[in-house]
Amino acid sequence: MTKHAKLSRRNFLQASSVAVAGVALTACSAPPTTSATPTPILMVEVPVTNADEALTRLLEGNQRYAANKSLDVNESVARRTEVAQGQDPFATIFSCVDSRVPPELIFDRGLGDLFVIRTAGHVIDRAVLGSLEFGVAELQIPLLMVLGHDKCGAVKATIELIERNTTAEANIGWLVEGIRPALEQVKGQAGDELDNTVKANIELTVKHLRDSELLAHAIAQGKLKIIGAYYDLHTGIVAVTVP
Ligand SMILES: [Zn+2]
Repeated sequence: MTKHAKLSRRNFLQASSVAVAGVALTACSAPPTTSATPTPILMVEVPVTNADEALTRLLEGNQRYAANKSLDVNESVARRTEVAQGQDPFATIFSCVDSRVPPELIFDRGLGDLFVIRTAGHVIDRAVLGSLEFGVAELQIPLLMVLGHDKCGAVKATIELIERNTTAEANIGWLVEGIRPALEQVKGQAGDELDNTVKANIELTVKHLRDSELLAHAIAQGKLKIIGAYYDLHTGIVAVTVP
């Protein structure tokens, strides 16, 4: 039995305010009602045991979010109490810091669900890599998603600085150098330069992580998948671009 199968008792008792307005939360032992009172909805999640299941769970949550049908999953006091005993997140999200792309919101997940690392333009440094490796080695998280998005300010600023041949202030130059290879990869391509660079940056970040020794080993053992995805600010939809 895997760690996830042992530890994940994700019996979140979140009743949807959308689907079952006015229905109170109850414990799982509540007997079926015979009165006209609406039956409380009990959502019991099967433990996530692999990357494919983790991705399905993420995309299901994103579909709820995009359709304005979020269930506010795992945000209850009961969940807070449950995860105070230990964490067992089912997916790692390595995303941009952009305030419009908060992973727990856009995947409709809550406490203890996602292991989130964010930097501008999801640029990697050693602390980031170590954090991602920690999620795999210590927490056995089966899925790592690199998440970029349209109109990324970090990518846009990088393009402007490089095209003007201007040096960035202080440590911002570190970010520019991290994103520069993506811009160089799309030079001469048709279409929108910013969007092309965002997508290339997702692809290159995935490639970089897949080349990391610890992560590559976990992939080879079938314990990890690293994928890339793109978030659309207008629709709220996450699409996998690097499967
Ligand atoms: Zn961004």
